[in-house]
Amino acid sequence: MLNLDFHPSGRHFLQIPGPSPVPDRILRAMSLPTIDHRGPEFGALGRELLDKVRQVFKTQGPVVIYPASGTGAWEAALINTLSPGDSVLMYETGHFATLWQKMARRLGLEPEFIGLPGDEGWRHGVQAEMIEARLREDSEQRIKAVCVVHNETSTGVTSDIAAVRRAIDATGHPALLMVDTISGLASADYRHDEWGVDVTISGSQKGLMLPPGISFNALSDKAIDASRKAELPKSFWAWDEILEANRNGYWPYTPNTNLLYGLDESLNMLLTEGLDNVFARHQRWAAGVREAVKAWGLEIQCQDPAVYSPVLTGVVMPEGVDADTVRQLIYRRFDLSLGMGLGKAKGRMFRIGHLGDCNDLTLMATLSGCEMGLTMSGVPLASSGVEAAMRYFSEHAPAHASDA
Ligand SMILES: *Cc1c(COP(=O)(O)O)cnc(C)c1O
Repeated sequence: MLNLDFHPSGRHFLQIPGPSPVPDRILRAMSLPTIDHRGPEFGALGRELLDKVRQVFKTQGPVVIYPASGTGAWEAALINTLSPGDSVLMYETGHFATLWQKMARRLGLEPEFIGLPGDEGWRHGVQAEMIEARLREDSEQRIKAVCVVHNETSTGVTSDIAAVRRAIDATGHPALLMVDTISGLASADYRHDEWGVDVTISGSQKGLMLPPGISFNALSDKAIDASRKAELPKSFWAWDEILEANRNGYWPYTPNTNLLYGLDESLNMLLTEGLDNVFARHQRWAAGVREAVKAWGLEIQCQDPAVYSPVLTGVVMPEGVDADTVRQLIYRRFDLSLGMGLGKAKGRMFRIGHLGDCNDLTLMATLSGCEMGLTMSGVPLASSGVEAAMRYFSEHAPAHASDA
């Protein structure tokens, strides 16, 4: 049972890679009264929101908003565009890619799951040339969609989506490109239109700094065309009725009104700061955290420095150390939540989230909690990661620092 007496003093450090901490500004915006979702004020909010949200996806096309977690938006992407028995080429980058593949199978699709052998797939980004090679073999064009995860939250590895687009184009294959950027959006550079993505899937509780509960599909014209012919059953998730109602700023059913207030505030914050500044802030935090992990002498899950995630870092435990025991000790003693190892990585690593509403000092506190917990768990550390990160953060000013 949930222990409601557990209210330690001070703020909890929610350093999992989603849900990420929700800024007070957003919590306040969400506390406003729920209004009539068919009334004129709501319509005005809806129209403004649906227009503004496209900037974060970098698209001129429509973005559908669902009152659902990211998993719902995964399902929406597949069932709006595909028909029973369709082949789908999916790439194994980690646990989330694996779950999406399982969903495709349950929906009656035929996913083909490719990736690097053994554990390597979970330590590198998508290898676009493997997708290219597979599409070249598909001379009958049976593959209807290519599905990849942009920021694999289970490992801390991003993938080069532009390279996947180039690989598909090089073959002239007509498959749709679907990308999960549930944990990448608004933290890592993402460009729906420029990268020629047909459906982008995202969620609220990671880079957008909102509570869980809304999710997104950004659509290309080609995806909308595909949805007119696709035969998997769909009703709640169907784009056509939502797009129709959205024209006037409404939804066919009751939308998540207060989360939409929060989304409006989140978009104001992100767009005022400027997306490039937001991305630079995440890259810098990620670099500081990696300095700490390297100083400890521990391994980073991602093996390719070109695709280190700006959102989170996976810290691999030495042989014989159970990462979950370390993580639980840190939670109990220091009121700090870290991400657990998922799927194949269970017990082998923990994940440090460095996304959204953080700053240098929340990350220093996080690293201190990690360093104390690792030492208390008997993990031998080569040197102080805390000192290494302090050095990094003090020597590398953020791009928007107001003074020297
Ligand atoms: C969080 C996450 C999901 C799952 O989203 P839910 O909101 O938990 O349904 C899927 N993919 C990735 C990459 C994620 O980070």
